[in-house]
Amino acid sequence: MNLQSLANAIFPNIDKNPKFYIDKYPKRNLKEGAKVTRYAPSPTGFQHIGGVFSALIDERIATQSEGVFFLRIEDTDQKREVEGAIEDTIKTMHKFGLDFTEGMTGDNTSKGDYGPYRQSERSEIYKTFAKDLIAKGLAYPCFCTSEDLEKLRENQISEKLTPGYYGEYASCRNLSTEEALEKINNGERYIIRLKSPGNSEKRVEFHDLIKGDISFPENNQDIVIIKSDGLPTYHFAHAIDDALMGTTTVIRGEEWLSSLPIHVQLFDVLRFEKPEYAHTPTIMKQDGGSKRKLSKRKDAESAVSYYDEEGYPMISVIEYLLNIINSTFEEWREENPFADYHEFKVSLDKMSKSGALFDIVKLNDVSKNVICRLKADVVYDYYTNWAKEYNKEMYELVTSNENMCKEVFNIDKEGPKPRKDFAKWNDVKEKIFFFFDELFKNDGIDNIELPKKVELTEAQRIIAAYSKAYNFNTDKDTWFEELKAVAVELGYATDRKAFKKDPEAYKGMVSDVAGSVRAALTHRANTPDLYTIMQIMGEEKVKTRFNEFISL
Ligand code: GLU
Repeated sequence: MNLQSLANAIFPNIDKNPKFYIDKYPKRNLKEGAKVTRYAPSPTGFQHIGGVFSALIDERIATQSEGVFFLRIEDTDQKREVEGAIEDTIKTMHKFGLDFTEGMTGDNTSKGDYGPYRQSERSEIYKTFAKDLIAKGLAYPCFCTSEDLEKLRENQISEKLTPGYYGEYASCRNLSTEEALEKINNGERYIIRLKSPGNSEKRVEFHDLIKGDISFPENNQDIVIIKSDGLPTYHFAHAIDDALMGTTTVIRGEEWLSSLPIHVQLFDVLRFEKPEYAHTPTIMKQDGGSKRKLSKRKDAESAVSYYDEEGYPMISVIEYLLNIINSTFEEWREENPFADYHEFKVSLDKMSKSGALFDIVKLNDVSKNVICRLKADVVYDYYTNWAKEYNKEMYELVTSNENMCKEVFNIDKEGPKPRKDFAKWNDVKEKIFFFFDELFKNDGIDNIELPKKVELTEAQRIIAAYSKAYNFNTDKDTWFEELKAVAVELGYATDRKAFKKDPEAYKGMVSDVAGSVRAALTHRANTPDLYTIMQIMGEEKVKTRFNEFISL
């Protein structure tokens, strides 16, 4: 009995050979240096921000080099699959400006000549290569049960040996073809293992595009390549898919780095040309004194949906991720405040080698800078789009006061130092609520922020006097002169030095008078320019607010 008959008994329906597939997927016709990258999620339905991080690197590296960026669905663990997850992935990536040039285009559709792009539809391909390895004596069926393996492990641990299925401990390695066939004919369950040619005493050198030069012991474990359900393991599928699909650069999370010895070996055994690898750092979060992985269970910000709900413009998230990818992005952005982020060149070798820290405070900073660069009309469009879905009340108020809102969004925008009020659309309501009587009415008296040393009754005295003197139709300088005149009349200093010299002689500073006006109109101590607010509110609203304040 020869090995070919064993291979035929295991895969009776496989009638192709590896050459068929190697010829079917020829080398891609791309320009010199073009990179082929892929985003390869499992369709579990949860869109993790780490996925956008990965896909962004893939997309940038491919697009920058005029290469190909494709979507492959890794659904060999069918227990975890969720319906609609592929479409959801594509939609999510599209929202972040990440569009695939090739690969899955929907749950049942794809484009490109290197498909199928969904692993569950590639089973015949994996089996063809596994069959060939068996026929060549490079892989074999293993009939060990989980109990057998557990026993083996316990023995190895008690003898202080490296646990695993390898060398002399790989008992099914030594089954004769007849023995193996007999077990198969008896209906025993089995998996297919690689007969590892590796020696753990020897080392393999490798260059990772992010981690740099690395070396590790050769793999000597007879790893599983085909599971008992007939589907491949990640290792086997990775080698076959990335080889046949012409991936030049495998960019994936560093959790796969420890499997690299297996992958290098598989590429050799399968006689494939190896791709380049770039293992990206895991996204971490500062938690008290220590760092930990951003967790799906504990951290709301791990879900992409969080950024939608909070209303971060997608460009803010992208720019923040670019900051994590290459810290030089920040400097580039300062030098090129209005350039499109696509003009920044992502370099894998400038990426941090260890954990990437995800920090919402920094994201907010980046996002404030992004939003402050947007024109008021654009802010209005983004905001109403968001509010339509996430804050109906604000949507109604803002769209029925479009002109006023555009003026509000334009406050201090045109100058050299534009205001940075909003990091996300969910911040807008608290920053502009006072322009709307409906919202202002509901803002309780306890929320009023008066100047530090001014009591409510004193603030009311100030407003009573100021409301009589107040002129709507004046320019900013005159307006301030008039405010100062009221301050002097009420015993407030207009000159800081004079006040400092003899504080007892005054009730306070003119800033206390302005602060009281601000409190009467907005209930807040921190607002944009008061004159501008009053101009936008209009004379009538200002006067009504003054009257209401006096009678609080
Ligand atoms: N499906 C694997 C994962 O989601 C992909 C890893 C890779 O990109 O090779 O982790």
